[in-house]
Amino acid sequence: MNNYDVNKIKEQFPALNRQVWDKPLVYLDSAASMQKPQQVLESINKNYSFNYSNVHRGLHKLSEEATANYEGARLKISNFMNCNPQEIVFTSGATAAINLIAYSWGTKNLMPDDEIIITIAEHHANIVPWQLVAEQRGAKIIAAKVDPDQDFDSKIIKDLITSKTKIIAFPHVSNVLGTTFPVKEICDIAKKNGVISVVDGCQGIIHEKVDVQDLGCDFYCFSGHKLYGPTGIGVLFGKYNLLEEMPPFLGGGDMIDVVKIEKSTYADPPNRFEAGTPPIVQAIALGEAIDWITNIGIDKISVHEKNVISYGTALLDSISGVNVFGKSPNKTGVVSFTMDCAHSHDIATIIDREGIAVRAGHHCAQPLMDYFNLVSTTRASVGAYSTNEDFDKLAEALVKVKKIFGA
Ligand code: PLP
Repeated sequence: MNNYDVNKIKEQFPALNRQVWDKPLVYLDSAASMQKPQQVLESINKNYSFNYSNVHRGLHKLSEEATANYEGARLKISNFMNCNPQEIVFTSGATAAINLIAYSWGTKNLMPDDEIIITIAEHHANIVPWQLVAEQRGAKIIAAKVDPDQDFDSKIIKDLITSKTKIIAFPHVSNVLGTTFPVKEICDIAKKNGVISVVDGCQGIIHEKVDVQDLGCDFYCFSGHKLYGPTGIGVLFGKYNLLEEMPPFLGGGDMIDVVKIEKSTYADPPNRFEAGTPPIVQAIALGEAIDWITNIGIDKISVHEKNVISYGTALLDSISGVNVFGKSPNKTGVVSFTMDCAHSHDIATIIDREGIAVRAGHHCAQPLMDYFNLVSTTRASVGAYSTNEDFDKLAEALVKVKKIFGA
């Protein structure tokens, strides 16, 4: 894109201008957590320094300001996702959001022998909460298979649906393969079968426009730290009619209507699901991150990242002894690979000395690894600030790894 100035974008990230082991940092671990632009860092500083107080219950100026900023962040996020602000629940992250749905919706609605469809490509955060609730309610987990070199065919889900299916939980984008799932098609299948759709959007909303009305999903979750925001803040979008019927997950202050010793009544969503003092400054800073993204344009970021990923995939694939894992035509965000000569932990440790940060291991996706008989992979992942040169440096470093192992 000729008006996408990646160098100007990169300059806004203090971490990307530092050195590691006396080498310029090459940050290829954005899928684990995105670096933060100055605008977000300034928001955190400002809101702790000058506008800080607890929200919702104060009658003084600072509390009013903090409340307006916190609720303002909810509004920004709802505009970004095209939903009602009342449908945005702040959580501590995607993991907490999925646990909330599993516990609250699941314990109320799941019956013995009911089925929960997930996929083999799930992050553990979209497996274990369902296992916990399935065990409690006597329900079953059914896992849809994926092909790492192809787009995911929604027919696989369609074929697994039975009269017992209650939930389909799946990733927007796989954090290992980079495969983009056909969210709209799967949600449509879910809707036609009276099944609830839950999208783990952690690796999706960071790379492309998400319009929850257009996608037709019932729930969509993500973590703020992966979207250029701080840690400790996450988002659960839920259709209001579903949230309204759900019991609270955590009890305490702010989520109540009236409390009596005998029994309490609860606030309407989203407050019903935000017990206790929320991550105020983190939510506001996530709103700032959304302003930052919107200012550049998520569509432009998306095109840039896709170009970098296809460059990186082709480059790594051209090195003998490097095996790229995951070549779906609709891949985004990550390039996972193995090397014939070295374990992923050795690769990551060696290239760290070249200033290159990647992730190595099972990526919290053990069932996917087991299914493909892999112990681990090395994963290079990108953000708005990533460049082809980052992959050039990675490729050079991998050639050094080969030399070290005599390959
Ligand atoms: N889902 C996916 C696809 C992820 O990549 C991650 C984090 O790596 C998570 C869920 C969990 O996110 P968090 O640890 O921020 O709750």
